[in-house]
Amino acid sequence: MKSLKNKIVKEGKVLSNTVLKVDSFLNHQIDPPLMKEIGDEFAVRFADAGITKILSIESSGIAPAMMAGLNLGVPVVFARKRKSVTLKDNLFTSSVHSFTKNETNDISVSKEFIDEDDVVLIIDDFLANGQAVLGLTDILDQAGAKLAGVGIVIEKGFQSGGKMIRNSGIRVESLAIISSLQNGNIEFFEEVTVS
Ligand code: 5GP
Repeated sequence: MKSLKNKIVKEGKVLSNTVLKVDSFLNHQIDPPLMKEIGDEFAVRFADAGITKILSIESSGIAPAMMAGLNLGVPVVFARKRKSVTLKDNLFTSSVHSFTKNETNDISVSKEFIDEDDVVLIIDDFLANGQAVLGLTDILDQAGAKLAGVGIVIEKGFQSGGKMIRNSGIRVESLAIISSLQNGNIEFFEEVTVS
């Protein structure tokens, strides 16, 4: 997606050879028109997949997931990283190791919101080693729901997650795939699906 790549080049900050900061439009401040474009693009790519629900993870997956849900006309559920008095029973739970925080946390989704009749699109902001996506697919397995595919805003193609998930037969659509962050430069792979 050209506008997304342009935004990444213009505003992204390379923190290291493996970490990109995009706090000005995705991870802290959010750019609504860009999120709308991203949501519309996911909706086009998964238009024929029979999606009944979108599953994301707090917090940065919510904005793109919300816009995709608006276009597809389906609810958006996001996995919570912390339990609370309002969310403690009747949960699907999985363990996720965070790439950026280097810690392992449980993520939870209420059993009320996903069941075996659902066809689910997973949406997240970044794909690195694939642990967040694996945790979400684990929750869908527990629910007996069908996974239609995974929509990612920014995939770091030089890390292992994309290959691992695609090799397990899951459809992954990433709107920008970074091939390298070496020496402070952001480089992209050519897109397979042209928008
Ligand atoms: P994974 O689970 O695929 O290893 O990592 C994906 C998760 O880690 C995403 O939900 C995202 O929040 C975070 N993440 C991974 N790499 C980056 C990065 O380079 N920049 C930012 N801002 N977040 C990242």
